[in-house]
Amino acid sequence: MAGITPMMRQWHRFKREYSDAVLFFRAGDFYEMFHEDAVLAARELGITLTSRGREKGKPVPLAGVPYHAMETYLAKLVKRGYKVAICEQVEDPKQAKGVVKRDVVRVVTPGTLMEESLLEEKSNNYLAALLVNKGRAGIAYADLSTGEFACGEFQDEEEALNQLVAISPAECLIPESTSEELVERMRKLLRETFLNHVSETAFSPSMGRERLAEHFGVSSLEGFGVAELELGIACAGAVLGYLRETQKNALPHITKLRRLATRERMLLDAATLRHLEIVRNLRDGSTRATLLEVLDATATAMGARLLKRWLLHPLVSVAEIRKRLDAVEELYSDYLLREELREALGKVYDLERLNSRIASGSANARDLVALKNSLKAVPEIRDLLSTCKSELLEEILREMHPLEDLSERIELAIVDEPPASVREGGIIKPGHSEDLDKLREAATQGKRWIAELERRERKRTGIASLKVGYNSVFGYYIQVTKPNLHLVPSDYIRKQTLTNAERFVTPELKEKEALILGAQERSAKLEYELFTHIRDEAASRVKEIQTTASALARLDVLLSFARVASERDYVKPIVDESRVIDIREGRHPVVEVYQREFVPNDTHLDSAREGILIITGPNMAGKSTYLRQVALIVLLAQVGSFVPAREARIGVVDGIFTRVGASDDLATGRSTFMVEMQEAANILNNATRRSLVILDEIGRGTSTFDGLSIAWAVVEYLHERIGAKALFATHYHHLTELEQLLPRVKNYHIAVREQGNDIIFLRRIMPGSIDKSYGIHVARLAGLPKEVIDNASQVLRRLEEEEVADDKIVAKRLRKRRLAKVFSDPAQRTLFEVSAAEPSPVEEELRKLNPNEMTPLQALKTLFKLKEMLR
Ligand code: ADP
Repeated sequence: MAGITPMMRQWHRFKREYSDAVLFFRAGDFYEMFHEDAVLAARELGITLTSRGREKGKPVPLAGVPYHAMETYLAKLVKRGYKVAICEQVEDPKQAKGVVKRDVVRVVTPGTLMEESLLEEKSNNYLAALLVNKGRAGIAYADLSTGEFACGEFQDEEEALNQLVAISPAECLIPESTSEELVERMRKLLRETFLNHVSETAFSPSMGRERLAEHFGVSSLEGFGVAELELGIACAGAVLGYLRETQKNALPHITKLRRLATRERMLLDAATLRHLEIVRNLRDGSTRATLLEVLDATATAMGARLLKRWLLHPLVSVAEIRKRLDAVEELYSDYLLREELREALGKVYDLERLNSRIASGSANARDLVALKNSLKAVPEIRDLLSTCKSELLEEILREMHPLEDLSERIELAIVDEPPASVREGGIIKPGHSEDLDKLREAATQGKRWIAELERRERKRTGIASLKVGYNSVFGYYIQVTKPNLHLVPSDYIRKQTLTNAERFVTPELKEKEALILGAQERSAKLEYELFTHIRDEAASRVKEIQTTASALARLDVLLSFARVASERDYVKPIVDESRVIDIREGRHPVVEVYQREFVPNDTHLDSAREGILIITGPNMAGKSTYLRQVALIVLLAQVGSFVPAREARIGVVDGIFTRVGASDDLATGRSTFMVEMQEAANILNNATRRSLVILDEIGRGTSTFDGLSIAWAVVEYLHERIGAKALFATHYHHLTELEQLLPRVKNYHIAVREQGNDIIFLRRIMPGSIDKSYGIHVARLAGLPKEVIDNASQVLRRLEEEEVADDKIVAKRLRKRRLAKVFSDPAQRTLFEVSAAEPSPVEEELRKLNPNEMTPLQALKTLFKLKEMLR
């Protein structure tokens, strides 16, 4: 270390401790980076690489960013997956003896960003963890900026991954030993997530348990309902440990751990979230033309985030759904209440994020004023809600704290428009502190004296151009131009010479200056103290602020549902435990917004006769739209929203599974057919009798007979083995044969009308099937050259003549196969047939015998016994 400056020695010490991070080393108005960090920063941030001093005979590379622009640079590095350790000066450089004391105050990674300007207001920024062990999987996640914290444990990796996909974390911790295969899958599913491999020990369940218990100050985790979740706790422990390490504070705003339950929420797998375009569209991944966009009439960022969460996690409990629906209905039916509530909510800032800055000690005076203004809206909202009768609104009312004492404290102490900096004064109102007022008065008096000085000295010296000025190096001075120098009195002391003037001071001026500067410095310090005092007071109320924030967020979402329902003419669905879905004049909530004249359609599904609908119709008829419409209406109902229909009755489903469109998953590099089969496999493995399955053109990615066979087998399986409700759109009209064979299958088609050479899309769903594909009509509509169309028509005619015969054969074979199967294979018993062929006692007995172990005599005896049994 010889020849290394003390500051650089300090740098090396921190760099050793944070070797995996880029060190932002504060020096005055800059954050400086040295050595490998400087090279990296220059490359990634496009800033200049220079050098300062030498170590071991070589120049030390240096790059720096100004402190006020730090956030932008920080964001760039973090978004590219680098960790950044922020090393601040922790003492006043003026008072430092030797090198200024520094310390790393925070380590920033994608999942631990807090800078307001870097976060998307309407999304959560989650840090997650995943641990898979012996087929089970645990996950946990936290949003540092709002204090949300949850963990769960699942039967299989699939469900854990689905949950992660739903929240799309910014960063996910995984143990180093995670299998390459799983890492690969995560990379594909969670494309925007930074995967952070951490040591095994971070995931120790016993340490996790201890860490959580200590953090929440509880003796056991029973109260959170997570006590038995070994893997979930391991993950929650890993998340908490990581946050502690990076934030360097006690995280007081993380006040509870929520359990992610499987059966509490409807299962929506990753493919379904994508296909139904709930929060992102398929085209560019934005929210345009998604369910979220249509449903979002929230007034606050907290509400917008919660709405997204609700849409991704629909409920399954009828009671809970009805609670939400009743609240929406109450708001729906009172226009005035709705408008007034919305106006009041408009005054509420992002309390969740304010709260986390207050708790972590990083809030400034503007944050406290925002808190005050938000809290001030609470009594008004409470007032408006006081006459509401629905259970959920009453609950929300109860949970809102106006915290009047706190907002009054802030009101009395802090000016209405404070500066962003908390160390330079200008924060505290006059009259709040006597000491502060005195210091300020002293400074003002001094300034007044100086303001007078110019006039006095001009008169005394007779120099009309004499000026009093101030600069940060010399302080206050009196300036006299060269031609007047002979008039300068003897008590002036020369300080500085300029080209055409000289600057002087007087002992009296210096004295006043010291007084002013001293008073200013002390008052800034006192203001800071007074401010932190109030911030601490606010910090001691984070729990109440959080409950209030969450109540306001829920109110905002319910209100948003009510507004959308009224604007878009939705109805309150009847939700029950039945297995019926009955929709009158349903509409697709998103397509109807973008389509001028949307044709509504009915849907009926039940468990007795119409469980699986096979829907045929030419391309472009509207099959996909219809399928998604049904799924979205069910989803909306279970989220607690009104639905786009004239009437709807929804028997809750435990999951929605979709396999929609031959969408090319080019990005992940899997062949269309493979993707399709994987998605179909997932459906068949996870759907239950209570699920809703949407299959669009399954089997399309392969040859006709392959595709038809797979589609056929899938329908049979859904019908016989699972008994799920399903909508199945297909262009294999052979599938419509199934209506004859399976009692719960029913054919529908989307009607078109032929008019000469053209077809008119009626967009109406009708019973029965359609066996014409109208492909050539659609091709004409699409603008294919006339020669091609004519030629294709001729080929088609020829093929059709031959195919009619073929078709009949295929149909006949399919029917035969079906009959043969049911009768020849007693093991294939179905949900709906109870076989008459129970094995007889003789058969049972025979099955138990092992001839190899019998003596001839035993064998003979047994034979007699069996004959006896037959009699
Ligand atoms: P398919 O799946 O049968 O090929 P789509 O569902 O993709 O057909 O629909 C084709 C077009 O018809 C879409 O542009 C859609 O906006 C429009 N469409 C579908 N259903 C309706 C409807 N009920 N009312 C009005 N337009 C519709």
